[in-house]
Amino acid sequence: MECNTSLTTPDVIFIGAGPVGLWTAIQTKLLEPKLHILMFEKHPQYQRSHPLKMSMTSFWNTINDTEFQRLIYSMLGKKISTNDIEQSLLTFATKIGIQILHSHIDNPMSFINTYYPKVKVVVGSDGSHSIVRKTIFGDKFAYNYNLKYIADFRYTINSVTDDSKQRKKKKKLQKHNDDDCNDEHDRQYDNDYDKEYECVTKNKDNVTEITTRCFMSEIEYNKLKHGNNGMKATFKDPATYNEQFVNLVPEVCAKFTNKVTKQKHTITSPITVTATHLDVYKCEKVVMTDANGRYWLLVGDAAFAVPYFRALNDGLLAGSLVARKIVETISPYTNIYNFLPMRLANNIYRTTKALFISSDPIYEYQYWFDLLSHYETSKANVKTLFVESSIVEYSSFK
Ligand SMILES: Cc1cc2nc3c(=O)[nH]c(=O)nc-3n(C[C@H](O)[C@H](O)[C@H](O)COP(=O)(O)OP(=O)(O)OC[C@H]3O[C@@H](n4cnc5c(N)ncnc54)[C@H](O)[C@@H]3O)c2cc1C
Repeated sequence: MECNTSLTTPDVIFIGAGPVGLWTAIQTKLLEPKLHILMFEKHPQYQRSHPLKMSMTSFWNTINDTEFQRLIYSMLGKKISTNDIEQSLLTFATKIGIQILHSHIDNPMSFINTYYPKVKVVVGSDGSHSIVRKTIFGDKFAYNYNLKYIADFRYTINSVTDDSKQRKKKKKLQKHNDDDCNDEHDRQYDNDYDKEYECVTKNKDNVTEITTRCFMSEIEYNKLKHGNNGMKATFKDPATYNEQFVNLVPEVCAKFTNKVTKQKHTITSPITVTATHLDVYKCEKVVMTDANGRYWLLVGDAAFAVPYFRALNDGLLAGSLVARKIVETISPYTNIYNFLPMRLANNIYRTTKALFISSDPIYEYQYWFDLLSHYETSKANVKTLFVESSIVEYSSFK
């Protein structure tokens, strides 16, 4: 195990240096540069590379630092993949003095008690299979359920040309995405009357990678997930689309062929299929204090996830708030606002609160988190109904 050998105890430790962890750590450091922030990350190289759609609203309440705002600006208005975001954040974090060590933490409480007993705040930013959530928060969910089962058909076609149909589609999508800066030519979503939608992810060397998603029943999902006659369709073990596969799940394959026929795509590679599910979950608690008076927090996928391209966006929103609450709690004399009227209002608010309310600012995150997650979950439920009923184009909900 690689451990921090410096003599100073870190003020804040992050377990997991994915995009949300880095984002939160950076803003904590920018707010109070004196804080020693240490992150533990199990992988030397970030593992995710899917393209992302960054919403303008995710940058609400971010720290007003010129370099940081420049970094945010660089994420907007172009195709961006998870590992590009990760890399930019990692470079920035290292530059401002956040320490990152590569280590797999499998027992957070005993690790912290052994090596960093005096740390004030530990943040679990370790993704959807969070060990912090499991061991510290007891894996208790306010809810955790499946919204839909989907089959992802992956293949390549010759590059999508910008013909008049494409341009029309692009214009239509842009109309629905006025506040969401993304490159529609690189990433397009669509749904048709067969409840399917498409994600065009890369356009490289005259070849475009396509993922066509089709909803399927639980029975079909179970056949593909658990294997049938030696045929599975999992992320680790994708199925090849062939006659045997069609015989196994004919209905979802019919939806797929229908879609491809309408698109008039000429497929240039073998088609692979993975079965997956769109889940919604929310942790019951995202803040707690342990027996040593140390705060534990959950952010990002460790705390909450919704499908339909909102999970990272929500993680970033939450991260900006968490950073402020951490600094307010452990460094109460730091002024967390740059804007003078906000500073004055904040001073009055904090003095009043300190006099009359005993709870720690960090617990305000729980309240805010409950509001955000309920709002996003309701939105995801409604989107599912719309996608299913196909009354409205899926793209209009982006
Ligand atoms: C195919 C796909 C498409 C998506 N598209 C979108 C989209 O368009 N818009 C959107 O908002 N969201 C999208 N998402 C969701 C988004 O990718 C996630 O919400 C986001 O990556 C979560 O970031 P995170 O930092 O919370 O967690 P992660 O990215 O999972 O990072 C967690 C980090 O913690 C590390 N870690 C885990 N356990 C330990 C441990 N025990 N010790 C040390 N380190 C540990 C991991 O190695 C990892 O680096 C998509 C997800 C998928 C799978």
